[in-house]
Amino acid sequence: MSDLTAQNLISANLAAIRNRITRACERAGRAAEDVSLVAVSKFHPIESVEAALNAGQRLFGENRVQEAASKFPELRKTFPDLRLHIIGGLQTNKAAEACQIADMIESLDRPSLSDSIEKGAQKAGRLPELLVQVNTGDEPQKSGVPREEADAFTEASLKRFGPKIRGLMCIPPEGEDPTPHFRFLRQMGQRHGLPVLSMGMSADFEKAIAENATLVRVGTAIFGSRP
Ligand SMILES: *Cc1c(COP(=O)(O)O)cnc(C)c1O
Repeated sequence: MSDLTAQNLISANLAAIRNRITRACERAGRAAEDVSLVAVSKFHPIESVEAALNAGQRLFGENRVQEAASKFPELRKTFPDLRLHIIGGLQTNKAAEACQIADMIESLDRPSLSDSIEKGAQKAGRLPELLVQVNTGDEPQKSGVPREEADAFTEASLKRFGPKIRGLMCIPPEGEDPTPHFRFLRQMGQRHGLPVLSMGMSADFEKAIAENATLVRVGTAIFGSRP
């Protein structure tokens, strides 16, 4: 595919997604500005990210620190207002680098990671905003704090990090109706007075918006299937 075609395709996809977000907000009686689109660029080359930046997109998500570090610090020189979220399960030994490069870590899910983030933030001289990831389906292979422990862990995290804890994130089990999971997260957010809910991906972001998502993480529908 020529660069021009790739640019056009990504621009058109972004416009279509923004349009669908606006309409989902209308149906839910919400303001479109209350929902931000996280463009998930994992496995896609830096050229695809640049195409999205050229189309006005500024907020991106990556699930591996190494890969994010190879793309984004360079792009920040040209686009100082870009924002990067780490959205994948985070190893403790990657926490320091995540603190250095990310504006938000969406995957805080255990005390050992809180320790590493605290240390990493001291080293980096900056602490990103944080979301607590909840394993709403209690799936053994998935990161996220188990449902049962989610309230206690969120409270402890709020004590530790204060207002840097912005909200909650979840990835519902594949092949299940996601709405009960989105609703669980929404109610949890209300209990803790947390404004940010990161939920909804290419296949279900409109349902997430109906349940008050404020961040939707969309990859495939913008960049195509992952190489
Ligand atoms: C890959 C990924 C996404 C994007 O998924 P798509 O189905 O491609 O939109 C969203 N959230 C997380 C945590 C991911 O790892």
